Amino acid sequence: MQQTIGRFAPTPSGGLHLGSLCAAVASFLNSRAQGGLWKVRIDDIDKAREVPGSAKSILYVLDALGMEWDGPVVYQSQQIDNYASVIDSLIERQLLYPCTCTRKKIRGKPYPGNCSYLKGLSFANNQLRLRLEESRISFNDAYLGRIEGVLKKESGDFIVKRADGVFSYDISTVIDDELMGITEIIRGADLARLTLRHIYLQNLLSFKENNYGHIPLVCDATGKKLSKQGGATVITVNSAQKAMVNAFFHLGLHPKTEILREPTSVLLTWALSEWKVLNPEK
Ligand SMILES: [Zn+2]
Repeated sequence: MQQTIGRFAPTPSGGLHLGSLCAAVASFLNSRAQGGLWKVRIDDIDKAREVPGSAKSILYVLDALGMEWDGPVVYQSQQIDNYASVIDSLIERQLLYPCTCTRKKIRGKPYPGNCSYLKGLSFANNQLRLRLEESRISFNDAYLGRIEGVLKKESGDFIVKRADGVFSYDISTVIDDELMGITEIIRGADLARLTLRHIYLQNLLSFKENNYGHIPLVCDATGKKLSKQGGATVITVNSAQKAMVNAFFHLGLHPKTEILREPTSVLLTWALSEWKVLNPEK
């Protein structure tokens, strides 16, 4: 049987908060409960969004929690050549086209493909979109059940490289997950529908498909998703133990009062014995 390899891939746009910790804990427990590996990748591809020091602080807190990762941390900013060569291969296959439309022009609607008919636009200085087929994509999510959709209708041809040269989240994450040998991806529910793009790309690039589980988002008192941009409380080494307990409750684990103050190594051992492995029905 294939070894399970899970991963946690935070964006260093701030420290860990309860929402991102839940994703880390769930992916960690689900891999370890299957005797699998757990890897960490820092998704620092968009340098403009990076907050200096946050990658270091995320790793520091994971380490303090006793969540040991396997192998070296992968930094997306060091994988640019891989993304570039995949983009080149897609250009060669005539699956990409340059687009000059602004976000304002599209107004959040599915991209209608205006630029797909234009000739002579530069591939170097414009955003690049993927020419989609009208196929239905589906997968079984370990938390959410069956998810399906037709991307051509849902988003239209989506961007894989921005005009400023930054590769999209979708293409970079799909390439790295393949190269890192990842077999299952547990992350927040806000990314569930983006997974359709990822599966579309995996098929296009002859990559293997992964198992997916999208955990419920952690929301603030007003019902909004906790986010770094929204000022979510950053977890420090001092607050890490308490945060781990909160993450357990959010993930449906119910530690008894006696162990609530135990060190995180004890908490993790307990959680591993309680964790029910997520297994999406095929
Ligand atoms: Zn366009």
